[in-house]
Amino acid sequence: MRIGIGYDVHRLSKGRKLFLGGYEIPGSEYGLEGHSDADALMHAVCDALLGAAGQADLGQLFPDSDAQWKGAPSRVFLGEALRRVAEAGFELGNLDCVIVTEKPKLAPHYMKIRESLATLMGVSLEQVNVKAKTNEKLGYVGAEEALEANCVALLKEARDQDERDEGDYS
Ligand code: MG
Repeated sequence: MRIGIGYDVHRLSKGRKLFLGGYEIPGSEYGLEGHSDADALMHAVCDALLGAAGQADLGQLFPDSDAQWKGAPSRVFLGEALRRVAEAGFELGNLDCVIVTEKPKLAPHYMKIRESLATLMGVSLEQVNVKAKTNEKLGYVGAEEALEANCVALLKEARDQDERDEGDYS
């Protein structure tokens, strides 16, 4: 088994859509600033996966100095992270994520965010957990200037196709 950690922070900004884990939080007054779609949660997930697989991080693979990634949907990054995980011979055990933000309140959206990530990753809902906290008004997150996302990912050695087929009949 292998474990990886991912962290990201983006500035909150009026007039942008808020994407977390590929899910657009409906009616959010604030979104996140960034070169891509600024999905901080998905960026943290990607770095956790890449880290566990012993791969280069998101900033190295998709530099924000490269114009081709401007406005890019972060599922492109997730797809590449998953490709590298599989190539290294691993598959997802589980993910656990913590978002830190004063706003918006995210608890009503946990299930939609989990479903979005699980669907994009082709894994079960039970393998993806998401929760959120405020920062108790402390620091830049507390001042409602930014949103942080943290993720821990566990990878396990991928079973080969024969073993998976056997598993289907057991
Ligand atoms: Mg980012």
